[in-house]
Amino acid sequence: MNVYLDYNATSKLRPEAITGMEKVMRLCGNSSSVHRFGRLSRRAVEESREALADAVNASHDEVVFTSGGTESNNFALLGSRRKIIASSIEHDSVLQHVDEYAKIRVNSDGVIDLFHLEELLKNEESSVVVSVMVANNETGVIQPIEKVLELCRRYDAWLHCDGVQALGKIPISFSSLGVDMMSLSAHKLGGPQGIGALVIRDGVSLSPISVGGGQERGQRAGTENIIGIGGFGAVCETIGSSLEVSESLLKMRDNIEKRFVEIAPDIAIYGKESPRLANTSCIGLPGIKNEVQVMALDLSGVAVSSGSACSSGKIKPSHVLVAMGANSQSAECAIRISLGWDTSTSDCESLIKSWETLARSRVEHAFHQPTVA
Ligand code: PLP
Repeated sequence: MNVYLDYNATSKLRPEAITGMEKVMRLCGNSSSVHRFGRLSRRAVEESREALADAVNASHDEVVFTSGGTESNNFALLGSRRKIIASSIEHDSVLQHVDEYAKIRVNSDGVIDLFHLEELLKNEESSVVVSVMVANNETGVIQPIEKVLELCRRYDAWLHCDGVQALGKIPISFSSLGVDMMSLSAHKLGGPQGIGALVIRDGVSLSPISVGGGQERGQRAGTENIIGIGGFGAVCETIGSSLEVSESLLKMRDNIEKRFVEIAPDIAIYGKESPRLANTSCIGLPGIKNEVQVMALDLSGVAVSSGSACSSGKIKPSHVLVAMGANSQSAECAIRISLGWDTSTSDCESLIKSWETLARSRVEHAFHQPTVA
């Protein structure tokens, strides 16, 4: 059995992305060179920029290619040269820049507390940049970006959104949302790793964090990763069908949660009461640490994650679940299951079967505990 259910960490490559990269691999010119070879590479880069801009309803000159979501978040926040306020459930590449008191609280359903955001904005004397993700990587909870933007406009703040987990899972219109910056990454939706973009609203000016070349209209120095860009552009053209797949992922995800509750009614499903990405489920199984759960499922051939991939390896409770009010003991028992474009109902059945064995082992364990006098 070989079941991959960790798409929020990274997706399996889509065949379209492979084809897109293969096409570009055959080019040899540097996209900054003026000769014919260079111009062909330049054309490939610009076609992908157009595809990405179309996918998120932005203008192609608002798109700056980066090495991924992490760099895009760093570029947006460092490049704005403003004080940063961010939600307490952001990715680490955002939180590293935020003072503890400038973290916006979330409620127990994982949704940002707008009153707290307003309080923080009111106390600022100069203009700030606010960073709120479109959808959370661990719980899938979708944030009320329109309302956040309303507050930002009222207090003359810029709004940066980390759209890394949302792209390809829910429709995104950069221009209708009206936010100032949005971070994107290719590998969460079936494109290659190591390529992403920051979409920057026309009129917003950032200081580059990578200097030493005029690439990306002076906004990000360094020879473009044209193979990655080719794959990103190709996968952006599949977004329409990805959104259709979301319907069937929702049915599969809801069925997993329903069956898990039947097996173990004491589980916690984090963010269940909020609008969530259709592919994501964050489940706490009291009594078994998430590392043990992940290892047991892995041994049975099913790959899931204990929290976000970027923090796997670190043995500490998820900051997202703690921000939602979970105590550290409960947070340490939560795993994330994330489905993707290639997930089948038989994959879900394999997960349910393996997870059932795991959950039932708690009862057996309890029966075999030695009694202490
Ligand atoms: N933002 C979110 C919400 C993520 O989930 C991740 C990756 O897990 C990132 C940013 C970082 O993206 P990348 O892996 O492309 O650097």
